[in-house]
Amino acid sequence: MRIEADREVCTSAGMCALTAPEWFDQDEDDGRVIVLDRVGEPDAAVEDAVELCPSGAIRLR
Ligand code: SF4
Repeated sequence: MRIEADREVCTSAGMCALTAPEWFDQDEDDGRVIVLDRVGEPDAAVEDAVELCPSGAIRLR
């Protein structure tokens, strides 16, 4: 499984970085999502972050 993030859709709400800080960070300039680790197996926190993201910018594939 892998995490995909659409930075064009991201509204910089920051729920992903709050919910799963080992996987997501926010760009210092515009606050948009940065996926920190695309190699490891996503855990439950990542699934929560996907559900909580208000813009639907992140997903698991
Ligand atoms: S929760 Fe969604 S909208 Fe907010 S920073 Fe993360 S990806 Fe962007």
